[in-house]
Amino acid sequence: MKILIADAFDDILPGRLEKFGELTTDFNDLATADIVLVRSKTKLRKDSIDAAKNLKLIIRGGVGLDNIDVEYARSRGIQVFNTASASAIAVAELAFALMISVPTRLIEGHEGMKAKQWLKKQLKRTELMGKTLGLIGAGNIGTELARRAKAFGMEVIAYDAMLSEHEVVELVDFDTLLSRSDYISLHVPLLDSTQGMINAESISKMKDGVVIVNTARGGCVVEEDMAAALESGKLRAYAVDVFLSDPPAEDCPLYGAPNVIMTPHIGASSKENMLRIGDVVVDIITKFVQV
Ligand code: NAD
Repeated sequence: MKILIADAFDDILPGRLEKFGELTTDFNDLATADIVLVRSKTKLRKDSIDAAKNLKLIIRGGVGLDNIDVEYARSRGIQVFNTASASAIAVAELAFALMISVPTRLIEGHEGMKAKQWLKKQLKRTELMGKTLGLIGAGNIGTELARRAKAFGMEVIAYDAMLSEHEVVELVDFDTLLSRSDYISLHVPLLDSTQGMINAESISKMKDGVVIVNTARGGCVVEEDMAAALESGKLRAYAVDVFLSDPPAEDCPLYGAPNVIMTPHIGASSKENMLRIGDVVVDIITKFVQV
């Protein structure tokens, strides 16, 4: 059996997979591979799937499956799995870090010090305590973020299209979430129903000075509308790990907008998470070869 490791996984994973067969990292081996492992870089669309004549199993190390044409692969009898809940803590910690960096003025304080500027009087701070965090999507990652935010004394509400009850947060409708939240954090997959859901119209229903955190997908917001809202001050800050493309295009409007905090899609990239993803990959392949 041939296993193609198309993207970067934890260093120890290849050693754990050797017992299952021949390993390769050369994408040209797609035509003869039985199993392909991808993260988010490699896209498996119809043409690649058609070229993979022996393919029986695709594993995406991560949550979304938007880089794989899942329905087409399954129609060809290929099994498709992700490592759904493994990344929740890693992404929730980054979302929390992005969120708390705004009221603590962490980035401006650091940049000022590096430029030998003592901004003690200029950097007025606020606190998370007592503020309302609105989650869009209250699945694995949203729930982990809710637990952390509550530990900091935040009130947490959520809008989730599929849930009617939740053990940690109060569920509200979309417009209530927009109007009540001081901080809004996105945790939905990229679907037709979530594409561009944060746009000029939804932003107009938010509180003045709202902070938006996005560790979900860049396509869930309209970047031009985010930049305009940052320029006007309606939006206090946009703290974001995900963009329309990885990396963002040269003309991405966020580069020139004020009060944007950006990280290079590192939500799932913790050492611990990569080990957890490796554990799930080994489990899936073990079950696959036993059948
Ligand atoms: P999840 O499936 O556990 O939760 C997603 C939630 O969104 C579900 O509860 C679902 O009911 C809800 N939802 C679906 N459509 C909706 C809609 N139209 N409106 C409102 N809610 C809707 O997924 P998760 O593990 O929490 O991950 C969420 C997303 O985070 C992933 O889909 C992925 O896009 C993103 N992600 C990013 C990184 C990163 O590196 N930044 C890493 C992992 C995941």
